[in-house]
Amino acid sequence: MTTLTKTSAELSSESVRSLYNKICTSLKDNSILQGVSALLGWDQEVMMPSKAADTRAQQAYKEATALPSELVKESAALTSEAVAAWAEARKESDYSKFAPYLERQIKITRAKVAHRIKGGVCDEVRKINEKARASLNLKDTDECYKGYYQALLSIYETGFKEDELGVLFADLKKSLVPLIAKIKAKNFQHDNSFIRGDWDVEKQTQYSHRIAKELGFDTEAGRLDVSTHPFTNGPHPTDVRMTTRYMIDNFQEGINGTIHETGHSLYEQGRNREYDGLPVNQALSMGIHESQSLLWERMVGLGKPFWTYALPLLKEQFQEPSHENLQSVTPEQFYKAFNRVQTDFIRTEADEVTYPLHIILRYEIEKALIEGDINVSDVPSLWNAKMKEYLGLDVTEDRLGCLQDTHWAIGYLGYFPTYTLGSIYAVQIFNEAKEAIPNLDEHLAKGEFHVLKTWLNKNIHEQGSLRESGDDLIKDLTGRPLDSQFYVKYLTEKYTEIYNL
Ligand SMILES: [Zn+2]
Repeated sequence: MTTLTKTSAELSSESVRSLYNKICTSLKDNSILQGVSALLGWDQEVMMPSKAADTRAQQAYKEATALPSELVKESAALTSEAVAAWAEARKESDYSKFAPYLERQIKITRAKVAHRIKGGVCDEVRKINEKARASLNLKDTDECYKGYYQALLSIYETGFKEDELGVLFADLKKSLVPLIAKIKAKNFQHDNSFIRGDWDVEKQTQYSHRIAKELGFDTEAGRLDVSTHPFTNGPHPTDVRMTTRYMIDNFQEGINGTIHETGHSLYEQGRNREYDGLPVNQALSMGIHESQSLLWERMVGLGKPFWTYALPLLKEQFQEPSHENLQSVTPEQFYKAFNRVQTDFIRTEADEVTYPLHIILRYEIEKALIEGDINVSDVPSLWNAKMKEYLGLDVTEDRLGCLQDTHWAIGYLGYFPTYTLGSIYAVQIFNEAKEAIPNLDEHLAKGEFHVLKTWLNKNIHEQGSLRESGDDLIKDLTGRPLDSQFYVKYLTEKYTEIYNL
């Protein structure tokens, strides 16, 4: 009897183990395929001849598997039409040329969510939707899209609750709108003439490569190249591809871009090798990924300690007579020039104070669109009204307003919030690092970046996807939930000093 029981226990444990090994093998295969796809993406942006684009589009199409093939096919076809229409509409600043495609993009996005709800993938969304239906006394056949935004948000920000996002953003808006108004009212700008001018691209490249390496980027496990839109990907922690872009007349663009992408790369290179190829070693979410790029770009690269170290290197690199005025600049002046706040129509040009309002505006509009609270035709007027309310700007052309981003044309609804979640995470993570690492600022001012990198490796990068959400990761790390007050405090203190508010 005993022997028999033991044998069956052994048998079952053996079959569980063999099943587990099989799952691991298939997950690792999948991870290799994803790696190949990442490499193809890099190739497309950096190396691929333009005529190869068609074949590549077919490869991308084959990757989407979770949805019915008809829906995937329809969505891929619509997206390529919508992106072309959007580009045309933006060029002519004519929203009416894009509106019908946005309408279709909303419809197909809803169909995808409905499919996922039916498949039991979005149980939480189903519950929100049923509750809304009950409270509105709707029949099963009536249209109701309440909760659909939660489903979209979950695609990019695993496990994050949409109602929490609403609270974070509302708090942020309440504090930032008056802060920006105060800065504007000062009617003063710091001199940044020494970062304008003629910057030799070759020299900028050398400088960027040097900084990336000193921050901890392993050049034997990755590359830094150039592309129109900077990005980071790569098939594996040992092969991470990042890009930046250099402007001849503005030095800041190239270096900020390099530091931002280095932050993404350090996350990728720092993934836990013990779980190589398994989902648990993957990045947790888009927002956490962005927190790593923003932590390096803003908390470090826009800080005084960093420029205390990096400005002398810059002066050494650019000694031509045309950069004469650079030689007399102090780290303090450089820091202020790099942190100018300027309200602008374009999101991608925005600084860290105004950026969240660009995101909140988009979040409010896309949520209302997908859940059926507004119509596609309402977008321009709503956009312009919010721009006026939040940043005090009058949008005169849709090109500078609701037509500026490609996200909605591609069908990336629910993606925008991850940018600002990233900056909220970044501040809380950096605050924790400052508490854990004695004299962090002094280390940074001496170029000893490894102390911060090692801490991030252990506390963020190697943690991979062990938690259900970024919120959980922050709670475990800091003992407090995600809270926009830390971000507000960081901005208020920093810019009160910079603008003497
Ligand atoms: Zn990024």
